[in-house]
Amino acid sequence: MKDADVIIVGAGNAAFCAALAARESGASVLMLECAPQAVNGGNSRFTAGAIRFAYDGVDDIRELCPELSEEQIEITDFGSYTTDQFYDDMFRVTRYRTDPALCERLVMSSRDTMSWLKSKGMRFLPIYGRQAFKVDNRFKFWGGLTLEAWGGGPGLVDQHTKIALEQGIQIRYNCRVLNLDFDGHKVNGVQVRSSEEVFNLKSDSVVLASGGFQANSEWRTRYLGPGWEMARVRGSRYNTGDGIRMALDIGASSYGNWSGCHAVGWDYNAPEFGDHEVGDGFQKHSYPWGVMVNATGKRFVDEGADFRNYTYAKYGRVILEQPDQFAWQIFDQKVTHLLRDEYRIKQVTKVVANTLEELAKKMEDVDVNGFLREMDEYNQSVLTDIAFDPNVKDGRGTKNLEIPKSNWANTLDEPPYEAYQVGCGITFTFGGLRIDPDSGRVLNTDFEPVPGLLAAGELVGGIFYFNYPGGTGLMSGSVFGRLAGHSAANHRV
Ligand SMILES: Cc1cc2nc3c(=O)[nH]c(=O)nc-3n(C[C@H](O)[C@H](O)[C@H](O)COP(=O)(O)OP(=O)(O)OC[C@H]3O[C@@H](n4cnc5c(N)ncnc54)[C@H](O)[C@@H]3O)c2cc1C
Repeated sequence: MKDADVIIVGAGNAAFCAALAARESGASVLMLECAPQAVNGGNSRFTAGAIRFAYDGVDDIRELCPELSEEQIEITDFGSYTTDQFYDDMFRVTRYRTDPALCERLVMSSRDTMSWLKSKGMRFLPIYGRQAFKVDNRFKFWGGLTLEAWGGGPGLVDQHTKIALEQGIQIRYNCRVLNLDFDGHKVNGVQVRSSEEVFNLKSDSVVLASGGFQANSEWRTRYLGPGWEMARVRGSRYNTGDGIRMALDIGASSYGNWSGCHAVGWDYNAPEFGDHEVGDGFQKHSYPWGVMVNATGKRFVDEGADFRNYTYAKYGRVILEQPDQFAWQIFDQKVTHLLRDEYRIKQVTKVVANTLEELAKKMEDVDVNGFLREMDEYNQSVLTDIAFDPNVKDGRGTKNLEIPKSNWANTLDEPPYEAYQVGCGITFTFGGLRIDPDSGRVLNTDFEPVPGLLAAGELVGGIFYFNYPGGTGLMSGSVFGRLAGHSAANHRV
């Protein structure tokens, strides 16, 4: 006697997309989530809800955001983000290692998946605050990241939950899936632990959507390397690699960049795991407008190499590799008005000073003389004859520096100066399971599908290597969740 046609492990974005797709194909669906309902939604709840997809222009945005007024449309240049640009971004940031078939599925299905989500009742709106600046009274979007879910990450999860319940999908919280019920050939269900008991549930198929292993400090150190146990986890403490482990236990193939992850500059004094009250507020993503120095007072990375969407996910690792694993981001009054709202939260590690000397003394554990020498050299190197423009890669860089700043370089000379201390915050891991790009089925070490087993979301390997274009995690979970849900329900497994 089966408990559901399809069992889904997890209740984040990928899981909900799988559940909705399975349900629309006529299957009965049971979602099992180990977290309590009060902190539901996994990493997806911690997001800003920003979601990357290819679009041709304003008409696509209008279709996805019917609530946009004509006046808003009038004052906004949404530009376009073609499938070619999405491909280019994926291949460039992953250094041409993204699996071409998975990448094609992700990019080519992205626009349609947005319409599908909208058809289910999901509401989106443009990311005016973070992805567009106002120039000559017109907002101009940049970086290929234009829409977010209504209400950000919490809004995304709340909308998903409401839609799922309306569709008759069952969600059980406080249910940790321990193992797959595998007969040596096919997966027939799962073993579950609730607060009261351990029990088995039967189904035709199981979709694993339980996230990466970023919240497992032992696996982090084992696979990402020494030092990674010291990183803070930006999101859910529940993504400990369970789904990956239980699939590997029955012979699934591992795939992708197991020593790689998405990690960012994150407030140095942030807690061990994400805090729902603060959300993604501990991130500090405005470094392209300033400079970053380490304990020696020296710069160590090109802060302006690209739009932050294309660098932020790899700079967490760079910060982790610095002496004592921290950095300070420094800005002067020419750019403080450009700082993202996360710089204004109350839980921030910040110092302010009227001179660089005073600032140097306030920045804990930084070599004062090293810093002053570095700033002197930096200020002299800025190509001030090129105009500063935050909306484009302005080419206003530095000359003759060992570590150049390629865009948005400004002299630091307008006090008061502000400095923010950051450490490394890990978002999610890149290594995971190998899936069939056409069905979402998990493949075994002979590269054959494991009957009854599918996967989607963070635990799928092979999509991201080294780096990541912002907003692609939610799209990946949506595309592959939808695919896995349809396949699971259509008994193709
Ligand atoms: C601070 C932050 C900001 C981010 N911002 C963005 C953004 O704006 N845009 C974007 O695209 N991406 C963003 N990301 C990345 C994004 O969160 C992930 O790519 C995406 O949410 C992953 O979705 P998922 O469904 O795979 O995993 P999750 O949403 O994490 O869901 C996995 C679920 O599985 C559950 N689970 C784990 N183990 C078990 C088990 N054994 N049994 C049952 N349940 C289990 C977990 O509790 C969790 O609820 C951000 C991440 C963080 C942390």
